[in-house]
Amino acid sequence: MCGIVGYTGYRDAFPVILKGLKRLEYRGYDSAGIALHNQSLQVYRKMGKVADLEEHVVGKNIAGHTGIGHTRWATHGEPSDRNAHPHLSASGKLAMIHYGIIENYSKLKQELLQKGYQLNSDTDTEVLLNFIDEIKENNHCSLEEAEQTQTWVMAQIRKSREKDYQNPFRKMLYNNEAEMEKVMGKLQDNPLISNLEEKEKLFQGQAARLQVTLTKK
Ligand code: GLU
Repeated sequence: MCGIVGYTGYRDAFPVILKGLKRLEYRGYDSAGIALHNQSLQVYRKMGKVADLEEHVVGKNIAGHTGIGHTRWATHGEPSDRNAHPHLSASGKLAMIHYGIIENYSKLKQELLQKGYQLNSDTDTEVLLNFIDEIKENNHCSLEEAEQTQTWVMAQIRKSREKDYQNPFRKMLYNNEAEMEKVMGKLQDNPLISNLEEKEKLFQGQAARLQVTLTKK
């Protein structure tokens, strides 16, 4: 089962997220990864234990006060480094972690491939990520607006082919530290553990289907 951790605040995000991922280890998973937001998005992913991820990042840039982390339970694509979350979008501006299944991912994947997208994993998550990324880039809109458009498009598809979409997923996105407030609001409506302190936010999820996207400003 997958685990999700996110942090924004005055501390270094990496050790906070790593600790959160370790606390979720009992749930079982096949790979782990972290995306950190500093000047750019740094994404580190590794098949195996959180300790393998920790070893993988030795000597690398793990600076940043905002980040997201994931332990994966594979549903689409074998357990591997390339299928581990977070995934980075084609524009390089979005990183996503996701919990659950995108029911209509094969149709979305075909559309992306026809448009010339090169996918770097076999996951449904990367398909959804680039679907949102494309809306955002084409319309020069905010992540929130892109996400609303994506929700609308998915609803239209669902209406037209109801039987394919009996199991809609839930999703969450965040853009920067200010937007984290909104995410926290949404997360608190879900069965997630959150630990709020002044000027910093931590969330740790294990029971809800969700995705979290981290955006390069
Ligand atoms: N469906 C996604 C994947 O296979 C997410 C799996 C999970 O919830 O960990 O990567």
